Amino acid sequence: MSRLPVMSSKRVLTSSILENCQDLQPDQKRLRKDPDHVKPQAASIIIGSKRPPVAASRAPLSKPVRSGAATVAGAPSRGVLKSSVASTAANVGSMKSTGTKAGGGAATSRPGWDLKGKVSDMEGKLSNYQSKVKSVNQENESLKGSMAQSQSRIMEMESELESQRSQISEYEEELQALSGVRDELEKVSSDKSTLQTEFSNLEGKYKVMETLRDSQETELQTLKMKLSVKESTLARLQNTLKDTEEEVRSLKDTVAQQKDELHAGETERRQLYNTIEDLKGNIRVFCRVRPLVDGGLSKHIQLLDSDNTSVTLAKTEESHTGKTGDIHKNYNFSFDRVFSPQASQKEVFEEISLLVQSALDGYNVCCFAYGQTGSGKTYTMEGAEYDDTRGVIPRAVQQIFQAAEKLEAQGWKFAFTASFVEIYNETLRDLLYTGKASKRPEHEIRKSANNEISITNLTYEQVSTEDQVLGLIAVANQNRSTAQTAQNDRSSRSHSVFQLDIEGVNAGRDVKCKSTLCLVDLAGSERMAKSQCQGERFKEMTAINSSLSNLGIVISALANKESYIPYRNSKLTYLLQSCLGGNSKTLMFVNIAPEPNSFEESLNSLRFASKVNDCVIGTASANRK
Ligand code: ADP
Ligand code: MG
Repeated sequence: MSRLPVMSSKRVLTSSILENCQDLQPDQKRLRKDPDHVKPQAASIIIGSKRPPVAASRAPLSKPVRSGAATVAGAPSRGVLKSSVASTAANVGSMKSTGTKAGGGAATSRPGWDLKGKVSDMEGKLSNYQSKVKSVNQENESLKGSMAQSQSRIMEMESELESQRSQISEYEEELQALSGVRDELEKVSSDKSTLQTEFSNLEGKYKVMETLRDSQETELQTLKMKLSVKESTLARLQNTLKDTEEEVRSLKDTVAQQKDELHAGETERRQLYNTIEDLKGNIRVFCRVRPLVDGGLSKHIQLLDSDNTSVTLAKTEESHTGKTGDIHKNYNFSFDRVFSPQASQKEVFEEISLLVQSALDGYNVCCFAYGQTGSGKTYTMEGAEYDDTRGVIPRAVQQIFQAAEKLEAQGWKFAFTASFVEIYNETLRDLLYTGKASKRPEHEIRKSANNEISITNLTYEQVSTEDQVLGLIAVANQNRSTAQTAQNDRSSRSHSVFQLDIEGVNAGRDVKCKSTLCLVDLAGSERMAKSQCQGERFKEMTAINSSLSNLGIVISALANKESYIPYRNSKLTYLLQSCLGGNSKTLMFVNIAPEPNSFEESLNSLRFASKVNDCVIGTASANRK
């Protein structure tokens, strides 16, 4: 409900009242033209009828109209009011015309004397007026009735108005309540729009989710397909795996069998290889000629290109008698191998690498460098720093480490211990000693119950790489040079012995091996005239001479299978006895200096070496258990 219908009902009410008023307007207007005149007349009409006719004739006109107008303003019924006013107006009109006609006609047409006529006229007029008054009274009565009616109607209307007012206030309250409702509605509608937005958002999300779900479903399908493919592949692979496993099993058997065969082959190889080595002789001698310092060739040493086992020292002597020409004297020597001055370190090592291999197979191996000072012993054994010039010791060690690594694949495990000793004037000196010089210990050679030789207080280093060995060589050189400054050219007057103890275990086959690789740089073999050396030098020389000659004696005693081998005669042979004995392989390098003034020393060296070369020490046997 709204305010509008209420207002219009009010207006309808008001306008109906006004309409009624307008119906009265012509009379009202006319009467208002002369208000003072009308008012007293109207009062007289209400009071009574005994008034002069003129005054009375006017009274009915104004009184009912005025009161009517006033009554009409509050009259509830339009119809009633209208008919009463209309009838009043009609009566007034007819009364006027009648009055005018009767009065005017009689006044003008009756002669003055006709009093009777005039009286009758007057009587007519009177009766006319009386009837008019009567009718006006009637009218008045009816108007009174209608006024009463109107008043009751007004009362009714007022009560109705009151009820409508109360209704309006009710409506207003209702409206108030409704405006609250409207606010609520507005809130609800805004909530609704928010919810709608949210809903549309959710719808969008839902659509996205749906798309996602669809795509995931597709993916799932794909994955399912893939899974089934994989499953079938897996089944196939499992079958293949079974087959492969069986194959692996049979291959493992084959491998085990082949390993056994390999081991047998390896054992056979060692046996055959050592048979060859035995056939070559357990003592071998290699001759190496050092190049001249300026690189030229020396005439007195002759080497044949076609034969790498012989060397000739040629000497031209002037004839004592002078009758004959110069005497040419040739000294021919043959060895297992003769290396020319051009032979590289690598070539030299290749010749002894098989011997080094024997050390890993459980044979003791001993390698000496014999020769006068400056003939190239140290160069042959140790060499220089660079790869190409490295000598026998680093190369032998490298080879042993590499071979050991290969043998590890067949179940072998090796341990290597290195030591470096100097024998000077029949005393031992630890070349790997790194402590204070003042605290340098003394050493003794000890022989255990099982004939193993060891040196007391000596440094025994565990080694497993070539670099470690090169480090040890550097320490040894450092120790030597310290001694060198104190004593001129000492290193050439001492033997230096590098020893590598090898211990191998093949746990799987319950095999062990133990051997020693000895690489010895001997003291200079040169001899001095006894007159030239005295005191300390004489002592040195005697020591060197005796140890070198004792080495020769020991070797030949071994070769002759003598019952007594004089190992104890020198520290060198005593230290090396296990390496020189029956189960060892010995190699001697005889180094030759090419200078003509070294001729005699070269001849001596070659002679000594030849003696050694002629020795055949009994067949070696590996130290295997
Ligand atoms: P030794 O140890 O017998 O006294 P060295 O090994 O010290 O003799 O050699 C003396 C010199 O000759 C050193 O300078 C060395 O480098 C050099 N020399 C020795 N042999 C060779 C060779 N085969 N090739 C080149 N130089 C050599
Ligand atoms: Mg030397």
